[in-house]
Parts: sequence; C-alpha cells; structure tokens
Amino acid sequence: MIYLVLTVGPVIAAISLGGGARHGQNLAPLIGRALGILAMAMLLLQFLTSGRFEQISGRIGLDRTMGFHRVAAGALLLVIVGHIAGFMFRAQSWAPDVLLARLAAMITSTGLLGGTLAAGILLLLVLWAKYLRHQMARYEIWRLLHGGLAVAAMVLALRHSFVHARLFADPLGTGTIIVLAVIALGSIGIIYVWRLYQGRAQGFVVDAVHTRAPGIAELILRGPKDGAFRFTAGQFAWLTLGRRHSVTDNPFSILSLPSELPRLRFMIRDAGDMTHTVPALVPGTPVAIDGPHGSFTLQKVDISKPVLLIAGGIGIVPVLGVLAQLAEYRITSPVYLLLAVRDGAELRLLRDQLPGLQENLDLRALCLFEHGEGDVPTNIENITVQKARYDQTHLVRLLDGQDAAEMVAFVCGPPVMMDAAIDDLAVMGVLDANIRMERFDYDAANDIISRRQRQHFTLILTAGVVITVLATILSVWM
Ligand SMILES: Cc1cc2nc3c(=O)[nH]c(=O)nc-3n(C[C@H](O)[C@H](O)[C@H](O)COP(=O)(O)OP(=O)(O)OC[C@H]3O[C@@H](n4cnc5c(N)ncnc54)[C@H](O)[C@@H]3O)c2cc1C
Repeated sequence: MIYLVLTVGPVIAAISLGGGARHGQNLAPLIGRALGILAMAMLLLQFLTSGRFEQISGRIGLDRTMGFHRVAAGALLLVIVGHIAGFMFRAQSWAPDVLLARLAAMITSTGLLGGTLAAGILLLLVLWAKYLRHQMARYEIWRLLHGGLAVAAMVLALRHSFVHARLFADPLGTGTIIVLAVIALGSIGIIYVWRLYQGRAQGFVVDAVHTRAPGIAELILRGPKDGAFRFTAGQFAWLTLGRRHSVTDNPFSILSLPSELPRLRFMIRDAGDMTHTVPALVPGTPVAIDGPHGSFTLQKVDISKPVLLIAGGIGIVPVLGVLAQLAEYRITSPVYLLLAVRDGAELRLLRDQLPGLQENLDLRALCLFEHGEGDVPTNIENITVQKARYDQTHLVRLLDGQDAAEMVAFVCGPPVMMDAAIDDLAVMGVLDANIRMERFDYDAANDIISRRQRQHFTLILTAGVVITVLATILSVWM
C-alpha cells in the first residue's frame, strides 16, 4: 500500500492539479506522460529497496526486499516502454513506418537525450544484474557500478522530467517527486557516508582469527565495553575490513550471541578476494560495521512450538546463532537440526559450537555430507551422520513422526538446497509465516514462497499501472 501511494500519488497529484487534460484530447500522450511520472517515482523508490535499510528489510525480510527490488526493476522498464509508446501513438496515423519514424525522432532528439540515456542505462542495469552479474570477477566492482549507474540514471531522468518534458507543471506533482528524489539521494548519502562514519565509530577491531574447518575461519572482533552496537541472534552485518571504503563491504551473519558483546564472532568461508584475506588479518585491524540487518531471528516467533533448523554449508552460521539463543532461553520444546555439507570435514564446525548448547536443549541433529570423511563430532549426543545429499526423506527421518505443520522452521543454505527444503516444508504443511529464511544469494530464489511473493509483487506493480492509466482516462472524461 505504501509503495502504491508513493508511486501513484505523484501521478494523481499531477493529473488532478496541473494535467490540463481537456475533454476529447488524444489519450495516448496523456497516458505516456502519466506513465513517465510513475516511472520516475518507481526509479526513485528503487534506492530505498536496495536492501540496506533495516527499517524496510528488517520488517518484511531481506530476501523479500531484494525480490521486490528486482521485480520492480523489470516493471520499471515496461512502464518506460509504455511512456515512450504513449508519445509514439500521438500521431494521427498508426502506420508502422510513421510510428518508427516518430520513435527514431525521439531517440535522436537532443532535447530528449537525458531521458533516452536514462532509459538505456536502466535497460543495461537490469540485463547486467539478471544475466551477467556472476561473470564479473569481483562482486564489489559490480555493486559499485550498479549503484553509480543507477545514480546517473536518476539524475538524467530527473533532468528529463523537469527540464525537457515539463512533466510536473503543477506544484503538488513536482513537490512529491522532489521529496522522493531527496529521499533517494539521502539514502545514498546514508549508506556510503553516514554508515561508514558510524561503522568506524563503533570501534570494533580484530581480536583473533581461528581456522575451524578447511577454508573456513572464525573471525572474532572486540568492541569498546560501553559500545552502542546491539543486535538479535541470527542477524547479519556488513563488514569493511581495514581502512577501505565501505563500498567494498560484505555481509556476514553474526555467530555469537548479544550476551557476548562487546565481542562479536563470525564464521567466514573463503569465497573470493575479500574473504580470502580473513585468515591473515592481524589483531588490532579496524573493522567498520554496518548493521545489524535481517530478520532471521526469534523475534515474533512462537518458541513454545518445536523448532526445525535446516542449514547447508556456511548457512550454518546464522542457524547456530539462533540455536545458541534457543539454548540461552532454555526452551523445552524439541529442536531439530539438519545440516548438509559437501566436504565431511566441515562437520568439525559443530564440534566447537554444539556441545555447550546441548545441555540446555532437547536437540536432535542429522548431518549429511557428500564427500570426504564425515568428521563425526563424537562429543555430541543425538546426532546422526550420513553420507548423502539432502532430500525430503532426511527431513522425514529427522522429525521421526513429529508433525511439521506444528513447527517453526529456519532455513539457510545454498540456493538449490534452500529451494528444495522450502518446497518440502510447504508440502509437509508448514505455514509460510512459520518459515524464516536467510539467503546468501538472492538472485537464485525459486522456491514456492519466493514464486508466490513474485506473483504478489507483480500484482502490486500491475495495480500501479492500471490505476495510472484509469486515472488518466477519467481525467479526460470528467
Ligand atoms: C545476508 C548474508 C549473510 C552472509 N553470511 C555469511 C557468513 O556468515 N559466512 C560466509 O562465509 N559468507 C556469508 N555470506 C556470503 C558472503 O557475503 C560472500 O561470500 C562474500 O561477500 C564474498 O566476498 P568476496 O569478496 O570474498 O568474494 P567475491 O570474489 O567478491 O565473490 C565470490 C562469490 O561470492 C559472491 N558474493 C560476493 N559478495 C557478495 C555479497 N555481498 N552478497 C552475496 N554474495 C556475494 C559472488 O557473487 C561470488 O559468487 C553472506 C551473504 C549474505 C547476503
């Protein structure tokens, strides 16, 4: 609702106060104009759904925020196509050669250059994010270019709106777009200037680094005793190691509990150029922290119900955070942990983390590994270790007759496993609202909940376009 009000609001304001539509006027350019205003508002709001605002992603979930960001980007392109088409169809003749000539004239017009460039950049951004992102060697460079090009598109589109297109002949339409532009620019300032300052001011430094399994290091940070950093178990933070700028920061789940502050622990897998440097970090290295973020927590979770935790690979980190919190709460309902790793040696991670927790929990665990030796944590009770790849039969076996529909589930792991596990949970009757998920890779989500969410987003975005078109038609009739 908020999104609809913020995007359709400027359109209605522009139409009702300054549109100047007269009865009998050609509808196509009026609809084109209204869609242009809608596109401008949608573009500006893309900055708020970039996933860095806890006020948004903390409430609706980071994966949902990022999912919306992507669906809205595609919809924005379609709205821009509608905007251009509206002006193409202003000609009396709709013959293909006339329409093409008009399109060519618009694209080559110097007056429309800002708008043409903005549309081109947005098309590039969407195609790049969807198809080519993983071919870029460094994620940080992709992110930097994505943000930089988005800002360039915004500036060009604003110039096009105000200077050329006189889209906002009325004060209210203009005012709302200016407010949205200030919010968008402010959000960039908050992420890249204020958050960096704030992250450094938290005063965290490296305390120690320990290798816990092949390619996996535990990073321990130490903050000031009276530090202001607060979080909930299972959340994550963006870390900037050393004195680099925050555009190079990376997200990591917090392994430790809030009660361990001012110490913070992370478990980091060597996945690329930044994570590769973690084992060599020397004590005292400053670490800027932007966080906490995420909703993979026990907040608003009914912990009187049995809890099911499903983790794949390094996805065990936030799951262990939640598990440790359950142990601290000493909940009496049973807790089930299913961990699947590729290399059996990674099961060593549990050896350091689980034993202390078991004293306070009714915990049953099933660990799966695909190759190597299952490094069985012999100091843990009620744990079964098996050489296998995850499928639903393992879930059924672990739950041993417990009704899954009565459970609260937490899932974090590689995309394919997450999709399979979430689909299995849905089949077993776990309600969407009782499934918490944390994705380390948002692009790949293809489980039943994500698909349903995308349909929901498409509905919201379609409603925005339909209201815009209907409002324009009504303005001509009335
Ligand atoms: C919410 C969240 C929590 C995470 N928690 C952990 C954790 O607890 N432990 C852990 O080891 N890893 C975690 N990750 C993944 C971690 O952020 C990436 O592995 C890390 O950023 C890779 O950085 P790099 O510079 O070493 O790799 P790069 O060389 O930049 O890239 C290597 C691979 O990592 C992916 N990647 C890089 N940066 C990110 C990013 N910002 N978000 C998603 N994928 C990225 C790239 O697509 C590429 O496939 C988490 C990711 C997210 C989104």
